[in-house]
Amino acid sequence: IDDKILRADRLATIGQMAAGTAHEIRNPLTSLRGFLQLLETSLAEHGLEKEREYVHLMLKEILRINALVDQFLLLGKPQAVRYRKLRLPAVVAEIVPVLAGEAMLHDIVLENRVQEPLPPIIGDPELIKQVLLNIVKNAIEAVERQGTITLTVDVDPEMRTVHLNVHDTGPGIPPYLVDRIFDPFFTTKKDGTGLGLAVCQRIIQDLGGQIRVISKGFGTTMQIVLPYVDDTESGAAEARGRKRDTED
Ligand code: ADP
Ligand code: MG
Repeated sequence: IDDKILRADRLATIGQMAAGTAHEIRNPLTSLRGFLQLLETSLAEHGLEKEREYVHLMLKEILRINALVDQFLLLGKPQAVRYRKLRLPAVVAEIVPVLAGEAMLHDIVLENRVQEPLPPIIGDPELIKQVLLNIVKNAIEAVERQGTITLTVDVDPEMRTVHLNVHDTGPGIPPYLVDRIFDPFFTTKKDGTGLGLAVCQRIIQDLGGQIRVISKGFGTTMQIVLPYVDDTESGAAEARGRKRDTED
């Protein structure tokens, strides 16, 4: 149990660092990589072998930068989290081009149906994007090739929550694994870290929310449940209120 607590502590730190630094470096790297891969294919199709090789070397360097960022993240300092009132559709729209680009490389269509009107939530937009990036990456890895990932949203007025759903047409998660996927270091992938969902869980729990998994044999929906606030209320006041609640 001590070991679990230690790992959870380390995860909290990793999550904050990942939120602060990784997106700044990784998002542009991801689009660079995506476009270079397209260029590589196109050059190959035109028989431009020497140019294709240059692009291939550029891609390899990008992978090296990625690996360095990983190392750096493990050593770096925690980043300050800035909670504020935000609009989910706007935050989602900012990260969708990156996600759609990555999906496209795998012949996967990413459909974004997250739209206003929606009540605002409290959070750090960069953390929300980090969570979406991790969950959509998992969805892409689950689908592998050709399929659809759909982002939808619904509201539960009774619970005063917003549900952000990421649905994929992948193979689903076997029932006996569902309880384990949020465990730190649990992975079924050859090169997986098993940290993605543990970090997501931590970020969403810090916002007073939770992540639910709906997977019945075929396809998976990861549901991010977040409390919403009234449009008229001050977001800062709500955030302070919630912080007090959790500190008691
Ligand atoms: P990693 O991606 O490094 O394996 P994660 O914490 O992101 O670590 O995910 C843990 C595990 O949960 C994955 O290895 C996979 O088995 C499972 N998983 C997560 N998302 C999905 C999904 N959309 N479809 C199927 N399995 C999934
Ligand atoms: Mg993952």
